[in-house]
Amino acid sequence: MSGLTVVVPCFNEGVQTETAHRELTGALGGIEPLEILFVDDGSTDDTLDRIRGLAERDPRVRYVSFTRNFGLEAAQAAGFAYAGQPWCAQIDADLQAPPEEIPNLLEKAAEGYDVVFGIRRDRKDPPLRRFGASAQQWTARRLLAIDIPPGASTFRVVRTEVARTLVGLRLGSPYFIAMVPMVGARYAVVETGHRPRAGGGSKFRLTRLAGHSFELFFGYSWRPLNAVYLVAALGFALALLTALFGYAGTGGATTHAATAALLSGLALASTALVGRYLYRLLLDMQRPRPYYIKEANVNLHPEDTLNNGLPTPPPPAAHPPTAPPSNSSSVPPVVAS
Ligand code: UDP
Ligand code: MG
Repeated sequence: MSGLTVVVPCFNEGVQTETAHRELTGALGGIEPLEILFVDDGSTDDTLDRIRGLAERDPRVRYVSFTRNFGLEAAQAAGFAYAGQPWCAQIDADLQAPPEEIPNLLEKAAEGYDVVFGIRRDRKDPPLRRFGASAQQWTARRLLAIDIPPGASTFRVVRTEVARTLVGLRLGSPYFIAMVPMVGARYAVVETGHRPRAGGGSKFRLTRLAGHSFELFFGYSWRPLNAVYLVAALGFALALLTALFGYAGTGGATTHAATAALLSGLALASTALVGRYLYRLLLDMQRPRPYYIKEANVNLHPEDTLNNGLPTPPPPAAHPPTAPPSNSSSVPPVVAS
């Protein structure tokens, strides 16, 4: 049987890392070889200390730790990049997805899928959060025609090589759930249970979730841009009508002023939207590294470190200045003749 790497992104998860380790090893004891890969996404609490402790006690524990917080998409990308086994399971450290469901996802994958997403049967998140997620899904799928598996979450099983191919695209707007159908990977969904967060609070503020939605909307759909063309055409027709009525003596100054204000508002909104796409293009062109790693107990790819994988020599000590040797060959001045 081929082995499994469980990728666990962690941002300020503290004691939850140990709970996750205990539950995961308990639920997956029958899988051999098993690797638990913690990705510390620049935590500022004791998450890294606790992960180090787990790695000392359990040789199945691997970890990489980022130089700062790079976000969940980057954390999972690192998890896939450094996974040592041919299959990966991704699970949040808060264990809102029950670890004992991982074998069900693997069973489905055995039918011939590259990715199996867990769909939360009865999502245990605050109402506002659930509403936001539904609104995002509806906008993406219905309004913007983005192909994403309905209800898919970060709880999933992925063939490691396929995950690496997706991560290797290094898109400016990485969004795993949208990338899977985009490349035509074979995927399936399985209904899974869902629990309230075990410890700590959600790591996503509303603004961050909105930003994530924008990555999806503008990273995977041209429809908003096409809508701008439509708005431009409508605006043109409206302007023409206003002008005609103006000459015909009807309409009045207030109507004309309101129409002008409306049109300039639409023009500004359209410019902002075009700006958003340009920004996306810029992100794609720069192709910066998605993350940097400061510490790990796996062999790092040199380009993922700040010092290119080389040991850092100590900075030169400031000794008192010494006199130059007497035979120092200072270059004689060259005199132009
Ligand atoms: N997480 C991360 N980096 C971040 C934010 C979150 O690695 O910048 C991790 C977090 O530690 C958890 C998972 O992503 O393991 C999901 O986060 P959370 O449970 O807070 O999200 P929610 O369930 O509220 O969507
Ligand atoms: Mg959660």
